[in-house]
Amino acid sequence: MYDLIIIGGGPAGLTAGIYAVRFGLDTLVLERSEISGQITLTDIVENYPGFPEISGLELMEKYKAHALKAGVETRITEVLSVRSEGAKKVVSTDGGGLEAKAVILATGANPKHLGVPGEEALIGKGVSYCATCDGPFFRNKTVVVVGGGDSALTDALILSRIAKQVYLVHRRDRLKAAKVLQERAFSAPNIEFIYNTAVREIVGSTGEIRRVEKVILENLKSGEVRELPTNGIFIYIGIRPNTEIVDVDKDERGFIRTGRWMESSEKGIYAIGDCRDTPIWQLVTAVSDGAVAATAVNEYLESLKYPEKSG
Ligand code: NAP
Repeated sequence: MYDLIIIGGGPAGLTAGIYAVRFGLDTLVLERSEISGQITLTDIVENYPGFPEISGLELMEKYKAHALKAGVETRITEVLSVRSEGAKKVVSTDGGGLEAKAVILATGANPKHLGVPGEEALIGKGVSYCATCDGPFFRNKTVVVVGGGDSALTDALILSRIAKQVYLVHRRDRLKAAKVLQERAFSAPNIEFIYNTAVREIVGSTGEIRRVEKVILENLKSGEVRELPTNGIFIYIGIRPNTEIVDVDKDERGFIRTGRWMESSEKGIYAIGDCRDTPIWQLVTAVSDGAVAATAVNEYLESLKYPEKSG
């Protein structure tokens, strides 16, 4: 039985792993792929102290190398569920069951879908959730970006350097993104802002090879419906947490509710990074969560060893 199993090998999970190993805890990190974490999809990170400008992928590779050097054991596997059996935690995976005294969930979050006709059928055929991944397919073409937050503006800026024309469609009359991103986007000559507007449908070409051809837009103020021809649509309307594998207290959007030590409603189960009800979804807070949770687990395991000292 492990002292600690950490589910998710992104920045939060690997930081928890580094701290746990330094506490002398027998720790295993389970991850879906060799290099994981939403951050790998980020083109340039500019708000991580000490690294004024670094690609998300490069930063993730540094975390991984650091974790391996610290002695963190990692395994690639899909986790199906986590549950308590008395004080013991049982983690079932596609490779069988594992046991630990404590579990930290660092499972992150994935992009939300718009839920409009045409979206699912055209994913990979012009519908995308990641400009860093798919942007290069749209060189000198036209793309629509949906959303008004940091993700939408960050990726609209990436696309403005590749595509001929970028339309940013937002349902409100003002953006939510950080001012610095807004200023950059406003000064890009090929980004046009379409406010108070919703995407109602994504329409693909007919024929054997279907690709996005146009979007149907509705002006939410006037009710006017119009077509906008485009080669692609990039959707950034927020994120959904990967928390279905565990039955603990969550908020209405599915983010795991935690206390200040990252503890969930179930003793011995903790949640960190984007999958918890964090006030901001940032790299610095994710790694901070990892350090806090590993410290909490160390204290928790001590309290199991010496129950008379706890409380
Ligand atoms: P977000 O901040 O939640 O913004 C989502 C945007 O999508 C909002 O403008 C929202 O509109 C809009 N939206 C939501 N549902 C919609 C729908 N059904 N139809 C149309 N529009 C919809 O999400 P995010 O931009 O992905 O950012 C998530 C977190 O990551 C944030 O904390 C952000 O700061 C962080 N992040 C940081 C950076 C960076 O620091 N460089 C980069 C990327 C992300 P309303 O404004 O009307 O709600």
